[in-house]
Amino acid sequence: MKQQPQKFDAIIIGAGISGLSVAAYLSKAGKRVKVLEKADCVGGTMQTIQEQGYLIDYGPNTVVLNNTRIFDMISFGGLDEEMLPADACASKRFVIRNGRPQPLPTSPPAFFISGLYSPGAKLRLLREPFIGKGPEGETVADFVKRRLGDEFFNYAVDPFISGVYAGDPHRLSIQWAVPKIHILEEKYGGLIKGLFLGAKERKKKRLESGESDKTTARICNFRKGITALPEGMAASLGEAVELNCDIASIIKGEDGYTVSCKQSGEEKNFTATSLVLSVPTDPLDELMTLVDSDYKGGMASMPYAPVAQVFLGYKRSDVTHALDGFGFLCPTVEKRKILGALMNASMFPGRAPEGYTGLTCFVGGMQHPEHAVLEEDKLIGNAHSELQELLGIQKPPSFSLVKRYPKAIPQYHLDYPKYLTIIESFEAKHPGLYLSGNFRGGISIGDCISQAAATADKIIG
Ligand SMILES: Cc1cc2nc3c(=O)[nH]c(=O)nc-3n(C[C@H](O)[C@H](O)[C@H](O)COP(=O)(O)OP(=O)(O)OC[C@H]3O[C@@H](n4cnc5c(N)ncnc54)[C@H](O)[C@@H]3O)c2cc1C
Repeated sequence: MKQQPQKFDAIIIGAGISGLSVAAYLSKAGKRVKVLEKADCVGGTMQTIQEQGYLIDYGPNTVVLNNTRIFDMISFGGLDEEMLPADACASKRFVIRNGRPQPLPTSPPAFFISGLYSPGAKLRLLREPFIGKGPEGETVADFVKRRLGDEFFNYAVDPFISGVYAGDPHRLSIQWAVPKIHILEEKYGGLIKGLFLGAKERKKKRLESGESDKTTARICNFRKGITALPEGMAASLGEAVELNCDIASIIKGEDGYTVSCKQSGEEKNFTATSLVLSVPTDPLDELMTLVDSDYKGGMASMPYAPVAQVFLGYKRSDVTHALDGFGFLCPTVEKRKILGALMNASMFPGRAPEGYTGLTCFVGGMQHPEHAVLEEDKLIGNAHSELQELLGIQKPPSFSLVKRYPKAIPQYHLDYPKYLTIIESFEAKHPGLYLSGNFRGGISIGDCISQAAATADKIIG
């Protein structure tokens, strides 16, 4: 006998940070939610493992606390006491120049005395306030080279783009991939002007709203690793979260959506007035086709950067470098075999056994996808030889681990508006259905949570 569907206000498919955040906001508002996840665990990209005394984050290694929504989710997950602010040294980041890690200057005076940029590049920056607006539809590379010059592009923005998107700045759209920079030109007529005036405005707004300094970008992780966030949120959602669900059908009816899934051989049916699809774009296309057989696909063609994470553990005494920072990034022009590395054990306690240190190297990305698909031995060998040269490491790693992401991070290229059109027209055609995930509104954890909050507001409203 077919099981009668259980009724909810919203069904969310996908229990990554995006889907869980939609569920959390709805649940906080008193809505009955059901989260259906295909995998046997929550968190999607955000996972943590423990091996040989190392605590290793797969996917994101840090959360930038740059909006208050993130604190909502940390509290929802009962993690206020579990949160670990990064060590003060994390404000120091290195950029490789001429084969050496050089500290990235973090203030105007530091910039002018920094050895990372030539006198010519520093002078070029002084011209920035006098440069007019550029054409519509610029890439990150064109925008930055026009406003700040080639050297600043090569040794600041190109590595930054590798660090965030593992992306190609010659293809990413300035408007969609880095809207906070683009808006400075749009709103204030320039980046330097925008940074100063924007900071004043933000401070004024904060004072007016009585908001604390909570949101001035700090970085955190959790005692038990990054997975603590989705796991804490799922624990608070309790029985609302179902794992190991294979979605079999989605039927749109007069009162909403009925979702059928197979879970350990058992068929389960759920119905709700709202349905949120919160999965990466390959499965998204499949789910959209289940909802609407006329849907011809299109989201799955969104490009994703392939990334391999190579985690290496060393005896601390075998590493010459002070490891006194967040990590380092390699500009493309430096032609290295890795995109950069994080100094995990320097930022957070409990990441490596006593007397050892751990570093996470990122390999591949849009500019060198061939690096990400190398055999495991080669990946480890390349990462170690780069660290050996750049950080003065004297002995081979005593521990290594590789995690591959064939489709790690969606890329907001110049043709990104075509995906927004698909998303928006699908939502318009199917009232009560929403798409929420890192393919929309930004890829960082904070962006995913903000996007989820906006989705939940639409459902509640
Ligand atoms: C290597 C790497 C490093 C990163 N570093 C950082 C960082 O340091 N800081 C930061 O802020 N961000 C970072 N990011 C980005 C950030 O982690 C992601 O953008 C974010 O976690 C995506 O969350 P999501 O919920 O949108 O998608 P996902 O995490 O992909 O979650 C989607 C969920 O949907 C499930 N699913 C898929 N298909 C189905 C289906 N058919 N039915 C049901 N469920 C399904 C999946 O199993 C998964 O659980 C990094 C990403 C990567 C890959």
